Amino acid sequence: MRASAYPLVDAGAAAALVLAHAPVLGAERVPLSDCPGRVLAEELVASAPLPAFPSSAVDGYAVRAVDGGKSLRVVGESAAGRPFDSKVQPGTAIRILTGGVLPDGTDCVVMVEDVELSGEVVKIPAGLVAGQNFHAPGADLRAGEEVLRAGTVLGAAEIGLAAALGRADLPVGRRPRVALLSTGDELVEVGKKPARGQIPDSNRWALLAALRDAGAEVRLLGIGPDEPEALRRLVVDALEGADVLVTSGGVSVGTHDLIKPLLESLGDVHVGRVKLKPGKPFTFATIPARMRVSAPHPGPPPDGGREKVAFGLPGFPVSSLVTFEVFVRPALRKMQGYSQLQRPTLPVRLGYDARATADRTEYQRVTLRREGRDLVGVSTGSQSSSRLMSLAGAHALVRIPPGDQGIKEGTIVEAMILALP
Ligand code: AMP
Ligand code: MG
Repeated sequence: MRASAYPLVDAGAAAALVLAHAPVLGAERVPLSDCPGRVLAEELVASAPLPAFPSSAVDGYAVRAVDGGKSLRVVGESAAGRPFDSKVQPGTAIRILTGGVLPDGTDCVVMVEDVELSGEVVKIPAGLVAGQNFHAPGADLRAGEEVLRAGTVLGAAEIGLAAALGRADLPVGRRPRVALLSTGDELVEVGKKPARGQIPDSNRWALLAALRDAGAEVRLLGIGPDEPEALRRLVVDALEGADVLVTSGGVSVGTHDLIKPLLESLGDVHVGRVKLKPGKPFTFATIPARMRVSAPHPGPPPDGGREKVAFGLPGFPVSSLVTFEVFVRPALRKMQGYSQLQRPTLPVRLGYDARATADRTEYQRVTLRREGRDLVGVSTGSQSSSRLMSLAGAHALVRIPPGDQGIKEGTIVEAMILALP
């Protein structure tokens, strides 16, 4: 073991540094069918009013309000998609169906339940008001109105709005292309029987899930060995065509921890250790588009010469996922243009005495339950960085500032919400 040469960076400062270096990737047009969960890259403006024409809200009769109380001859029909195209004369009515165009010459709709029909004559109730029972043009959206802001996540309603405005595709933030590598000679493929001293590569699948959830397109590189040259070749190849490199393991100060020197040789290591628990060895680097490889590739650099970002996550499963939450997820969201980079927070009453770590911010995992008006955070048990059970089913992360104070049971804290109970 040797002492780390990297200064311990404050967790908040490290997160800010990462975000400052994460590039916004730009937009691509995708059909509405591929829009769910994507981020709108430009504001969506209504090109026409919605509805575009006066549209009946009910089944009934289109009349003039001044004809209230009279008996009117029914001279035609306006069904959805089949308008009545002549001007309606005083003293007559038009049968109208929901979604039908309110014909010229009429100013309101009487519900079918409110009239008496005998043959071709309807008795209209008195006291009609012009404008009733139809949606005026622009009632839902005026032409030129801002519908959705850039940075909005596209869900069902947002996609429905785009379609209603006649947009078949939308500009969305490009997904970051992430190369994901696990490192460590103790790792075996999941499903293979580990020999003594070996463990399944679980981080790959946990991080794949977290990356996909954050919108990334992931290329799985498998398991990298604890051997500098082989690791270097793997990483250099992987970085071709990737925007981001995520590795797990190999960042602590053991002699087999090779990621930091590798990133150092390819680019600039901005963070090599953080005041964070779990996740102290978290490493962040940027790598120029033209990597510092011994034999540079001919031709222009890939991706228009954009710098790449590299995250060396610690090997312990909880550490890798917590550092993903704190550092990687917001960066991936920035790259896609999300306006909301961070998880939402909610006030939570601590249901236990949270002890602090002297020199590091701690993210403790809790489940939440309702108690009256409060959400109460209950520890998920041992917070060991190897114990994935501390994160499985956790609803929130509670940030405990460094020091010797801790946070007393009953205190209200702002918790980072991962899922609601
Ligand atoms: P390291 O950061 O490489 O020293 O790894 C720290 C701890 O995390 C060791 O106990 C490793 O066995 C474990 N670990 C590293 N990589 C993985 C992985 N991909 N899946 C599960 N555990 C891992
Ligand atoms: Mg290792």
